[in-house]
Amino acid sequence: MSVINILSPHVADLIAAGEVVERPASVVKELVENSFDAGAKNISIEIRNGGSTYIRVTDDGCGISPEDAGIAFMRHATSKLSDEHGLECISTMGFRGEALAAISAVSRIEMRTRLTGAGEGTVIRLTAGEIDEMDAVGCPEGTTTIVRDLFYNTPARRKFLKSDRSEASACHAAAIRCALAHPDVSIRFIRDGEEQFFSPGDTRISSCIYTVLGRETARDMLECAGEDSGLTLRGYVSSPSACRGNRGGQFFFCNGRFIRSVLMQTALEQAYKNSMLTGRYPGCVLYLSIPFGSVDVNVHPAKIEVKFSEEKRVFDLVYYSVLAALEKEKHSADISLSPSTEAALGKNEGFYQSISAQEYKALQHKERSAEKVSGAADTAFSAPRDSYQTSLDLGSAFSSGGGRSTGLSSGMPALGLSKPEKPRHEGVPAEKHAVPVEKPVQNVEKKALPYHNIVGELFKKYIVVELEEDVLLIDKHAAHERMIFDRLKANAAEITVQTLLEPVPLRLSGEDSELLLANSSLLSSLGFEIEILDDCNFVVRGLPADMAPSDVIPSIEEICEKLRSGKAPSPEEARDEVLHTVACKAAIKAGWDTSEAELERVTEAVLSGSVLYCPHGRPVSYRVSGRDLDKRFRRIV
Ligand code: ADP
Ligand code: MG
Repeated sequence: MSVINILSPHVADLIAAGEVVERPASVVKELVENSFDAGAKNISIEIRNGGSTYIRVTDDGCGISPEDAGIAFMRHATSKLSDEHGLECISTMGFRGEALAAISAVSRIEMRTRLTGAGEGTVIRLTAGEIDEMDAVGCPEGTTTIVRDLFYNTPARRKFLKSDRSEASACHAAAIRCALAHPDVSIRFIRDGEEQFFSPGDTRISSCIYTVLGRETARDMLECAGEDSGLTLRGYVSSPSACRGNRGGQFFFCNGRFIRSVLMQTALEQAYKNSMLTGRYPGCVLYLSIPFGSVDVNVHPAKIEVKFSEEKRVFDLVYYSVLAALEKEKHSADISLSPSTEAALGKNEGFYQSISAQEYKALQHKERSAEKVSGAADTAFSAPRDSYQTSLDLGSAFSSGGGRSTGLSSGMPALGLSKPEKPRHEGVPAEKHAVPVEKPVQNVEKKALPYHNIVGELFKKYIVVELEEDVLLIDKHAAHERMIFDRLKANAAEITVQTLLEPVPLRLSGEDSELLLANSSLLSSLGFEIEILDDCNFVVRGLPADMAPSDVIPSIEEICEKLRSGKAPSPEEARDEVLHTVACKAAIKAGWDTSEAELERVTEAVLSGSVLYCPHGRPVSYRVSGRDLDKRFRRIV
């Protein structure tokens, strides 16, 4: 007896329906996409009870003729594809001819539709995929589809629906994605009788973001655009200070279709590295236009995943466009010159870049060589610490000791062979909170800065600066941390090591020891010189010159924590995380006494526009307009 059955078309439809229609939100998406394909300019979406009892989508698109109305609900019925060649370049949202068949198989559906220019329309009603009624009817041009009692005939699926509230938010999210996908189409979303949003459809991405995602989100976004022969990217990305705790604010579209793309997401997030708090995620509304033949949307029935034929080009386009948007913000930051100052100085463009990055590097190199020659090894500190400091060739310094391939030195003698026999100069005991002071790059920078006067400090935390007609408040720790981070990152190969006169014993848990060993070469390349005593005991003999010896244990613990929590999946990220820790520990802290010279250095760096966010993405300065103050005190009205 045969045990294999050919399933009836009805059962086959139910199975297929499961792939396309997972929940009410999928119905919303499919119906709205049909409206887009029909060329609609206005679409209204209404749901009740999370969409499980009622979903209505009305459009002013081309409509369906009476002859086609019945066919539209059959499986593989589509007007958008006629043969296999069409699959090579799909320009419509739909093409599989599945949605109406799938939705009607698991609901009671009613459609009223009138072809543009036709005298009358058609109404068609189906229950579980079977046509109950089809008739001529008077109705506006376009199409209204009403889906009632979703999954009423598939209790197993119905059971999986979540609460009305969460199904409604999923529908809301689907409507948002549809609206953002088409800023040229006006979309209204109504939930249980209340309008949730109404996008104007004026083609402007910014007004679409404003109405759909809200004023706050729109305010914190930066314009982003890029092009690479045939590929274009446009849209908005969030300012680093407005990043959030999850990826819910990321919207990627490809040729008008909302997509999930790990590739684009990675490119976006890479661009924010070092200007964003770790554990935060940037938001974006980015539209990629790509030749239809270079992207395969037929990877999944819901068409949310796509496959790019040229992944690297897409990655680069996103990465560099976002980076450029962030850079632009840096240079157009809060701190701008007043028109009068600009006129007086007779210059207004690229003002803060009076010295190019290359020139800057060359200058630094020159300074360093000069210092090496003169034997003054301390390039970073205004006051030496309780140790001596010496510029070492790190490559050889860490192969010292027992020659473990981990990069950490092990066994005695403690001091590496490649190090000088004797300290080149004895350090005087460190002043309390000795602070690294960046060397002035050159005077050219100074004369380019706008008028400013450092008034003092608030709470030993914020530097108060008169800046032209305004007041600028600078978070001294955040700004200094960024300065140190940038310097370390740019010159990581030449990090100065301080060898401790009194090595610091370090005891770690087994897990942390493993982490330390696994990352030993990274740590040694960044200036940590750690000797292994046994499984859990270590001795720290050297550390990055910027760091106070008293900070070494908390720093190593913090670094282990970051490495453990998976915040740094790649070596490059691990390196940045370690640099963050070093920079944070080395920077002047709130509550410390800070010298005028140090305040001046930090202020100038901020005014030069090179320091905008701390390495974790917190803003470093806040400008209060003098005009606003005058208004508050009613000096002006
Ligand atoms: P697909 O969109 O993949 O073609 P669907 O099952 O979603 O498949 O729709 C089947 C057909 O019904 C479409 O190809 C289109 O011709 C027609 N159709 C569906 N919805 C609309 C609409 N809102 N306006 C005009 N035509 C529609
Ligand atoms: Mg469709």
